[in-house]
Amino acid sequence: MELRLIWHEISELLYPPRCAVCERMGEEAFCPACLAQVEYLRSPYCRRCGRPLMPTAEAHVLCGECRKQPGELAGARAVGVHTGVLRRAVLQMKFRRRRGLVEPLGRLLAARLAAEPEQPEPLDLGAVRAILPVALHPRRRAWRGFDQAVLLARATGRQADLECWEGVLERIKNTDQQIGLSVEERRANLTRAFRVADRRRVEGGVFLLIDDVYTTGATLQEAARAVVRGGAQAVYGLTLTRAQPVWQLGRAVTLGDEADEEAS
Ligand SMILES: [Zn+2]
Ligand SMILES: [Zn+2]
Repeated sequence: MELRLIWHEISELLYPPRCAVCERMGEEAFCPACLAQVEYLRSPYCRRCGRPLMPTAEAHVLCGECRKQPGELAGARAVGVHTGVLRRAVLQMKFRRRRGLVEPLGRLLAARLAAEPEQPEPLDLGAVRAILPVALHPRRRAWRGFDQAVLLARATGRQADLECWEGVLERIKNTDQQIGLSVEERRANLTRAFRVADRRRVEGGVFLLIDDVYTTGATLQEAARAVVRGGAQAVYGLTLTRAQPVWQLGRAVTLGDEADEEAS
């Protein structure tokens, strides 16, 4: 037997394929049992920013934030709440480099896009010209070895049959860790953190930003601001998870949630 094949067999024994979420053995990186436990973010949520609203709220209202200061994003949606298996999948992909999760997570993002027209007050995502990943700063990418937003954006583009334009939206500021900063401090930290590298491609277009997590939205809003400044007509955002609203925190494990998040 060839050495290469022997090594393959040994590594299969040492590292058998497992679900990256529950670690049970199996071929799929996000096993059907774990997928069945995903807590999807369903209405009611804010029709603009997608913030989960109290179950008693009407499905199509604007949240308080959006009524006060709508922000640059024309709309944002998320697959689920930042909890349970989805939260674990994001963390495993991002910090444990479980790349096998990229495709199944991209499928969830594409499915969320496809489901939008059936939602109450849907966003006009059909007008999207291309996906723009909310890329890491080059130094941060070099340090981590990969860029989860870019990988997710590519996978979503493939699944949703949308082009993914890399390098059009650039992160030009290597922002410090955002953990522990207030909303205002995050915003100040991110000011002018992005720029559009090629205005001709952006002018007059509608774009979709993809990122893994929406916490305060400061990162996505700042990225959207740069794309609008670059001449875009509208910018939407799509993430895998959305921070749990305060009124929901009591019912879920929140310990360690701070470590979930980086400046990324
Ligand atoms: Zn599993
Ligand atoms: Zn809102």
